[in-house]
Amino acid sequence: MLTETDYRVRFAIYQTFAEGVNPSSAIIAPKVRIPQKAVYESFERLKTSKVIVLDPHTKEIKVAMPFSTVETPFRVLAGEHTYYGCSAWDAFGIAVMMGGDAMVQTTCADCEGPIVYRVEQKQLADAHGVAHFAVPAAHWWDNIAYTWETIRFFRSDDHVMEWSAQTETPIGEVAAIARLWQLSRHWYDNRMSPDWRKPPRESLQEMLRDHGFTGSFWSLTG
Ligand SMILES: [Zn+2]
Repeated sequence: MLTETDYRVRFAIYQTFAEGVNPSSAIIAPKVRIPQKAVYESFERLKTSKVIVLDPHTKEIKVAMPFSTVETPFRVLAGEHTYYGCSAWDAFGIAVMMGGDAMVQTTCADCEGPIVYRVEQKQLADAHGVAHFAVPAAHWWDNIAYTWETIRFFRSDDHVMEWSAQTETPIGEVAAIARLWQLSRHWYDNRMSPDWRKPPRESLQEMLRDHGFTGSFWSLTG
C-alpha cells in the first residue's frame, strides 16, 4: 500500500525528471522535507507497487516509468530537455507527460534506420512504421528489462519479421502507431499530477480494451 508520503515522493521524482535531472534520494529528501532514510523506505514501497525500478545495489532509482535514468534507444526531445524512455511505448508516454510539442527520435530495431515522430498540439504528426510487443501483458513484470527492450519501433511489419528471426525474439503483437499514441495519451494522461493515484488493474485493462488492445495477449491477468 502506498502512503500519502509515497505519493509526494512519487510526484517529486517526476518533477525532478521533468527538470532534466535524474532523481536521487539526496535530491528528493529536501523536496519532500523528509529524512533520506524515509525516502529510501518510500522508494521500496514504490518499487513494490511497480511505480519505479531501483538499482539493486545502490537502492537508487533506475527507472520511474516512462523515464529511464540511463540512455536508451528511445530519445525524447521536449521543452529544453532530452529524456530517455524505457521502451517505444514509454517514449510516447514521456511526450504525453511533458504536455507540449515533442520529438521522439529512435531507430528501427531491425535495420537501425532512423524513425522520428513529432508531437504537435497533442497530436502525432507522423504515424509511419509500427510498434511491436514481444511479451504478453500478463508477463511484463516477469523480466521487465527484457519486456522494455522488446517494445520497439520498426519501419514495417517486414522489419519486425526480420528482427524476430535474427534475434530469435518471439513475434508478439504489432500495434499501429496511431493506436499506440492514443493509448499512451490515455495511459499517461495525469501522471504529472500530484493527484495521480495508482489505478486498479481493471481500469488499466479497460484502457487497453478501449483502444483496441484486446485478446489474451493484452490480458493483464493471463
Ligand atoms: Zn528496419
